[in-house]
Parts: sequence; C-alpha cells; structure tokens
Amino acid sequence: MSCYEFRSQFIDGHWKDGSDSQASSDVDPFSGALLFEVRCASVEDVDAAYSAAATAQRSWAATSPAARSIIFRRAAEIVERRRTEIVDWLIRESGSTRIKAEIECRAVQEGMLEAASIPYRTTGLILPIDTPDTESRVYRKPIGVVAVISPWNFPLHLSHRTVGPALATGNAVVIKPAEETPITGGLLLARLYEEAGLPAGLLNVVTGSSRTIGDAFCTHDIPRFISFTGSTEVGRRIGRLAIEARVIKRVALELGGNNPLVVLDDADLDRAVEAATLGRFLHQGQICMSTNRVIVEAGIYDAFLARLVSAVEQVQHGDPASSGTLVGPAFNAKQFAQNMKHIEDARSRLRQVVGGDPVGTVIPPHIFADVENADPLAQTEMFGPILFVIKARDEDHALELANATEAGLSSAVFTQDEARGLRFALGIEAGMTHINDMTVADMPFNPFGGEKNSGMGRFGGDWIIEELTTTHWVTVRRPARVPVIS
Ligand code: NAD
Repeated sequence: MSCYEFRSQFIDGHWKDGSDSQASSDVDPFSGALLFEVRCASVEDVDAAYSAAATAQRSWAATSPAARSIIFRRAAEIVERRRTEIVDWLIRESGSTRIKAEIECRAVQEGMLEAASIPYRTTGLILPIDTPDTESRVYRKPIGVVAVISPWNFPLHLSHRTVGPALATGNAVVIKPAEETPITGGLLLARLYEEAGLPAGLLNVVTGSSRTIGDAFCTHDIPRFISFTGSTEVGRRIGRLAIEARVIKRVALELGGNNPLVVLDDADLDRAVEAATLGRFLHQGQICMSTNRVIVEAGIYDAFLARLVSAVEQVQHGDPASSGTLVGPAFNAKQFAQNMKHIEDARSRLRQVVGGDPVGTVIPPHIFADVENADPLAQTEMFGPILFVIKARDEDHALELANATEAGLSSAVFTQDEARGLRFALGIEAGMTHINDMTVADMPFNPFGGEKNSGMGRFGGDWIIEELTTTHWVTVRRPARVPVIS
C-alpha cells in the first residue's frame, strides 16, 4: 500500500494546485519542519468547486440507499488499513499527541460506520388529514450542497462529522479546512473517499486563506447550508453572512466553550481527579469540550486540590509522537503567545499550584487555585494547558457558578448520589453534561452541540439527519369516490 500524495485542491474529482498567486506553508507544530507547500485557492476555484458539487449532487440524491451506504463501509475499511498513515499526519500536521490522534482516527471511522446506516434512516411521513379523499405526505430531501468550515484542533473529525452525514443523506460537500491543516482538515478525507469509490464532484476541498476566499465561500449562491466549527467571534460573522447572502443559507454554529467540571462533596475524588486531568490536558487543552473550570464544594476543596496537584505533576509532556505524552506542542505561534500571556497574567495575581517553563513549543500543565469565577481569565476559554480551580460554598452555589458564563457547550458533575447528579445536570445550561465522567465526549450517534454562545445546531444520530435535510409537504387529492347505490 503506497502512501497518499496531495495537491492543494480537490475539485470535481481532480487534484490540482490552487489558482491564487499566494502560497501558504504547512508546518509541523512540534519540529517546525515544512510538510507541504499549499498553492491557495482563488474565488474562481471556490466557484468551480460549488458548481461541480451542485451537478454531482443531483444524480447522487437519486441513488439507492445501498449504493450510498457501501461507500462509507469501504471508507471505514480503508481507515483501518491506513491507520498508521492517518495517525502520523495528525501528529505531524495538527500537533496531536499519539493518544489524541488515535482517538480522532477512531472517531472518524465510527462516524463512517454511523454514516453507512443513515441512508436507511432518512425517512418521510404520512400524516393524518381531515380533508376527504386526500393524503398528506412529508418527503425528506437532501438540502443540496453543504459548505463545511472546520478548525485545526480536531481537523479530520470535525470536518468528517458533517461530511459523512451530509453525503449519506444525498448532499454534496465543499470543505474549506483551516489554513494550517489543509491535509487533515480536508485533503486526507478527499483521498479516503476517492479510494472508497465516491463519485467525482460530491466531495470537494478548497484550501487557502480565509481573507481571500472566506466571504465568497460563505455567500456563494449554491450552498444551502454552512456547517461552521470554530471560535464564537468568527461564528457570529459567518452566521450574519449566511443570512445576508443573496440566497439565504441555513447555518450550524459549533463554537467555543468554557466547560465546568463540578465536584460535589460526596464525589469519588480519585475519579474526579482523573477526569479533570484528562479532560483538561488531553491535546494540551485545545478541545472545545476541555474542562476550563473545576468548581469544588468547600468541604472537600483542600483534599481534592491536593490529589489533583499530585496527579497533574505526573502528566507527561513533550514529543507528541511518544506513546505516553498527554501534553504536546501549542499548535502555532499565535496559540503559544496567547497561552503564555494568560499564564503571565494569572501568575501576577492568582495562586499557581502547578506550572513550569515551556520547552520549545510545549507548555507544561498549569493550575491556578482559589480563583474567583468572575475573574476575566476564568470567564475566557483557555485553549491550552491551563486550569482554574474555584471554591463553591455549597451545591446551589456550585450550580450558580457553573452557569455564570456566556458559554454552554459541555459540563460534568461528580457525586455518588445518582439522583443528586441528575438534578444538578438538568440545572446546567449546556448542550451536554456527563455525570461522573469528563467533559470531553463525542459519539456519532448522540446529540452534540451547545447552548448560549457555544452555538446552535446538533451533530450526531437523527439530529444531524434533521439538520442536513429538508422536509417537503405534499398533499394528494384524489377524485371523490362515487357512492355505491344498491
Ligand atoms: P477560528 O474561528 O479562528 O477558525 C475556524 C475556521 O474558520 C478555520 O477554518 C478558519 O480558516 C475559518 N475562518 C476564519 N475566518 C473566516 C472567515 N472570515 N470566513 C470564512 N472562514 C473563516 O477558530 P480556531 O482558532 O481554528 O478554533 C478554535 C476555536 O474553535 C475554539 O474557540 C474552540 O472552542 C472552537 N471549537 C468548537 C468546537 C465545537 O464543536 N463547538 C469544536 C472545535 C473547536
């Protein structure tokens, strides 16, 4: 099996260089090595990709469920065979630790297997109707062409969680991956699906600068849906563009988080410590669901903090390719500088209980204790290995603090009383809450998404089928039956 080779664009089944005059460099975040020189896409390339998608989509929508399903099963087999190559790309291009790269590769494969079932689960309805001799039907149809904009942190999975269900429901897709992850955010998926036999034009990838093609990508007449994953700031802008475009588009916005992990006074402290450690420091904290704030009831605060500090001091950091590394490199110079600025700010006025100096681009884990929930740092999403521990007077106070944020993506609560945990979980203003588990969790058959400034829309299961299809109400009135005269 030979390794995949890439050109910078994949449009209508053809690998080609972008036609913009600019090029950008794809760099390994740990070693700084140049991996790939990307000739950027132009606005004309975006147009060509959307046109190819629109043409290919019409015949794809008419194919049988079996013809669509088989593509995803084949793709999942190819991921199995190419696992080493895929994991290697995730380590080198997106600075993933091996642990995280393996998780991401598995998530994509599971997403493909879930997508294989979607053509058989996309159904219409026959509704009751009071009008005589009339039937009321609801047809479920693909939405058309779906635009995907994904971030660099979980590039392969965050592109694929739309790509898989979108293709499975009969749509075509154009991906614009993050500038810094053209391969793992898009081109690698295109290669996998090309090898799986997906017809040309159904999956297109345009890579390059958002400044050059961002607006054209979001406002083009052809796409009917924009699936955006990224920061709240950019997401707001994309949402506005989608509504103001000449042809209005539906939009799903999966945005930033500020996820609380709450430890109540009857919690199993070891389990809570394990979840806080992994949930904060996996992928060096660069996950939308990472734990940002640990909120602990006063009675167990000191005991919990002591155990957390001793666990986090054992966390391995450094070379992402080493099997035991949990904390690898900051993704790029911007992320590194931003995290160091937060750390300096925190050191100047908060109590640091774990820390250290960076080695190269690797920032070791940091914990600050006795933090006020209203502190601007605690109110900011730390996209790095920085954790804040906050003391709550009691359970009600803990809930108040958990909800005192503009974000509402994921959350967790630890207690050995299931009823108490459930009551607490349902009080949290978030799309997702895990009782006695970490804030980081994503499965292709469960609803994934946020409340408040964490966005709108849900991935997974039947929720993503609903997002990526449209309903068409059709009534059929038949000639009145002639009464039978005896
Ligand atoms: P970002 O918003 O800077 O970029 C996200 C994507 O948007 C990239 O592909 C980027 O190229 C593109 N983009 C930027 N400006 C654009 C424009 N004007 N037009 C079109 N596209 C544009 O975010 P990031 O720094 O890449 O990712 C980190 C953020 O993403 C964090 O806030 C994180 O919480 C969030 N995130 C959310 C989820 C979720 O599911 N809720 C998942 C992962 C990351």
